[in-house]
Amino acid sequence: MHKPILTLLICILCLTVSQAQKKLPKNKSLIKQSVEKHQANLIEISDAIWASAETAFEEHNSSKLLADYVEKNGFTVERGVAGMPTAFVATFGSGRPIISVLGEFDALPGISQKAQPTKEAVHEGSPGHGCGHNLFGTASLGAAIAIKELMVQGKIKGTIKFLGTPSEEKYFGKIWMVREGLWDDVDVNISWHPSDEIKADVQSSLALVDYKIEFFGQAAHASGDPWNGRSASDALELYTTGINYYREHVKPTVRMHYHIQDGGQVVNVVPDYTKLWMRVRDSKRAGLMPVYERTMEMVKGAAIMANVDYKITLISGIYEVLVNRTGGEIMQQNLELLGPIEYTDEEIAFGKKIQEVTGKPQVGMDSKINLLKETKEHPGGGSTDVGDVSWNVPNINLSVTTAPKDTPWHSWAVVACGGMSIGHKGMLYASNAMAMTMLDLFENQKLIDKIKTEYVERKGNEVYKAIIPDGPPPIPNSK
Ligand SMILES: [Zn+2]
Repeated sequence: MHKPILTLLICILCLTVSQAQKKLPKNKSLIKQSVEKHQANLIEISDAIWASAETAFEEHNSSKLLADYVEKNGFTVERGVAGMPTAFVATFGSGRPIISVLGEFDALPGISQKAQPTKEAVHEGSPGHGCGHNLFGTASLGAAIAIKELMVQGKIKGTIKFLGTPSEEKYFGKIWMVREGLWDDVDVNISWHPSDEIKADVQSSLALVDYKIEFFGQAAHASGDPWNGRSASDALELYTTGINYYREHVKPTVRMHYHIQDGGQVVNVVPDYTKLWMRVRDSKRAGLMPVYERTMEMVKGAAIMANVDYKITLISGIYEVLVNRTGGEIMQQNLELLGPIEYTDEEIAFGKKIQEVTGKPQVGMDSKINLLKETKEHPGGGSTDVGDVSWNVPNINLSVTTAPKDTPWHSWAVVACGGMSIGHKGMLYASNAMAMTMLDLFENQKLIDKIKTEYVERKGNEVYKAIIPDGPPPIPNSK
């Protein structure tokens, strides 16, 4: 064959193959159409949650925005579940399989920020969405609606649940929703999180426990008659000193943090009251418990030395995430189908400016599709109450780029991106990836069975026992 003609034929063939690879199966293209149809509303909702920036258990407007929209789209919504006014369960369809998707929406205190690449608060000291939960809840809303629309069109059968899960940043709302049994009948749960990269997330997180310590002493004039005082402040200092010595003798997977919430009021009084918030973490709950117990023993020691009384109050605790690689592989295939996110020159410049201001390499956005990584036995990083959900139902997790590479998380820079098109693009991408993964499950019961088999194997003989105080969740001003 004549060489130029051969080259032409090969080129046409290559083009056809690459187009065929990008062509989505019918139902997946319907998902994309659904997300596109709702896009303007989803962005509006996300921006309204971003602007509200409501913190732990105060997310009344944010929760309502999500619940109202999903209700308007035909879901049955039960609000105020598990004793939390801002938690809700939205359900559509009937019978099996039952697939759920999580939506978080709480903000972080003190990091108010405009949607611009340099640090400037909207309202100084006010909360901001430094973890991108405005995108989190709204992307899940979009995914749930896309699945519902396929059900209405008779393409798939079963039940889709969208769970509004409050207070991820402080008290871990999901543990009360687990206690309420809200995932008991669910086959597989889907979750995602805003990130600086795109991946089917097959890494675990750290288990943790939070508790409050109070010391009660005897007030006295700090100079006049200090010998009549018993200092709650001394106890606090002795305790934190003990913790800091103890750090040398814990495994490298352990983390301990404390936040002094009341260290006494004035310099000329021996303080009769101090309070601190103590947090212990480890990569496994089993490793966490002995360290937790030891740090509580140390409270007694500090109280004896300072001759004061003490009180320990459990706040809550969470498990590490139980990974499901079978689910991760299904998510991975959908990421490869969707391909990377494309950014405009303005968005890349926005990202680079943030990197410049925060002292990171100015590499811009990272939206390539990462390969599925090995699951680490002892991951680093943070904690999430998705952990508790994952010990009660198989869970598939996703990370999507919503901020430039290496953005300091829980900071103004994440808030900035979550209120503009970089965040919006990641959010809509997450809606598509999660809905497509859910679709695979609705269409193929064998995948669900395989996910469940891995879940049972990984869980082994471990019996889930929440680290949770008796009684209702700690809703502010509820008593
Ligand atoms: Zn988060």
